[in-house]
Amino acid sequence: MARLLASGAVAPIVTPEAVLEGGVWPTFLTSQSPATHGMFAYQQLKRGTYDLEVALHADRLPVPPFWEHLSRAGKRVTIIDAPFARTAKRLNGMQVTNWGAHDAWSWARSSYPASLIDDLVRRFGDHPVPSCNLGRKCTAAEYQRFREQLIEGVRRKTALLRHCLELEDWDLFLGVFSESHCVGHHFWHFLDPGHPRHDPSAAQELATAILDVYREIDTGVAALLEHVGADSHALVMLSHGMGPFYAGAHLLQPVLDRLGMSGMVPSASDSSVVEQSTWKLRHLVPARVRRHVKGWLPRLASALWRQTHHEVRPWERARAFAVPEHYMTSGIRINLRGREPAGTVEPGAEHEALCRELTEVLLSLEDAETGRKVVQWVARPAELYQGPHLADFPDLLVEWEHSFPIRAVRSPRIGTVAEDFPFERSGDHRSNGLLAGLGPRFQSGEIKNEVRTEDIAPTVLEFFGVPIPSHYEGRSVGGALFNGASVRHSSPNTRAAFP
Ligand SMILES: [Zn+2]
Ligand SMILES: [Zn+2]
Repeated sequence: MARLLASGAVAPIVTPEAVLEGGVWPTFLTSQSPATHGMFAYQQLKRGTYDLEVALHADRLPVPPFWEHLSRAGKRVTIIDAPFARTAKRLNGMQVTNWGAHDAWSWARSSYPASLIDDLVRRFGDHPVPSCNLGRKCTAAEYQRFREQLIEGVRRKTALLRHCLELEDWDLFLGVFSESHCVGHHFWHFLDPGHPRHDPSAAQELATAILDVYREIDTGVAALLEHVGADSHALVMLSHGMGPFYAGAHLLQPVLDRLGMSGMVPSASDSSVVEQSTWKLRHLVPARVRRHVKGWLPRLASALWRQTHHEVRPWERARAFAVPEHYMTSGIRINLRGREPAGTVEPGAEHEALCRELTEVLLSLEDAETGRKVVQWVARPAELYQGPHLADFPDLLVEWEHSFPIRAVRSPRIGTVAEDFPFERSGDHRSNGLLAGLGPRFQSGEIKNEVRTEDIAPTVLEFFGVPIPSHYEGRSVGGALFNGASVRHSSPNTRAAFP
């Protein structure tokens, strides 16, 4: 990475706003906004119902990933473990899905050609992390084992990628390391002395686990770059960031309850602290734990959640409810007549007034201990996106403050609302990533032009001289990334690696 950053073309990536939970990779694959491809959260409301469904299944991508355009144009492509991408039915090359990936539930472990995956497992074994789900009560020994499994996973993946890279002189070779994602979610509190769960007496290996996994990936990228010639082009994409998991997502529904939005009798002790809702712990935590279990059925997720929530939280009677599974950015859905099956809020003036009222309340929320604001902004999705899936979005997106833990909030209108932070992860997503390109056609130094996630696929297609499909919403940034003097399409020896 030091070599890439020092001598390559380097550009920050602007990721799609407010949808880190699910929107980044589908946007990378399709060059479409989340309102167009429709994937923006792990669980989304099923249109016209109060049911939740797992929305990040790869078969929900409405258009093929960009490499299928290269394949159809006669380019030889290899794709290894790209998140949220299905295995192509036909490909001019090969593809492996979920040999070892963080979001392995999004598609069955498979390959094209079908026999490839078995061959790779015979050669390199399985990825040592079967499912990325550590609980808060994990022992130090379990964390140690998980750290070792992640590092071993990077080593095996590097070996697997090298093997596949050497099979042929590929036009496009794309491989993904997701261990950096896993280690960021689970080990942040070991790294960060400011985190409430930080234990200064924890073993040194745990304190450095994130850096150790990053270093191992760095070693892997270097090993892969050694295997491509000086005439090749390598592009490294860091899809988004990680940071401490500080957000008030767990406080949103209790705040709505206090405002009388649930259609339920408000708590008798209006100004007292709302007790931690055990129903949340019972149902949200297992849902998170199950996120990475292979073969997880979306209908079961929704049914389980609803089975117990339905009698406790009747959304039919609510005016507004917190949509679950949004973390750094929360979502509020208005129970809108004509859109929801048992809507209670009239479209038009009443809907607008309620959105304004909730926005005011949320922006007035303060941290109960320090008085600092806990909500950065509240937005209507239409201010951020346009597309056929906009109606599936929450009515309000609530961006929490991420610079300190949020345990209790207060405002003159709602009093104080406190709940224990129920999630087992100590790290969570941050917006924006980084792109670094190295090769004869790349510029050297920082690229000033804005590069958005949706711009990368058209840039790659343009690099290969393949027409950019009309449904793409991003535009090529090749003019900024590449050295104009030597631009030359479709060189038979160009290869790109996407570790
Ligand atoms: Zn993971
Ligand atoms: Zn994640």
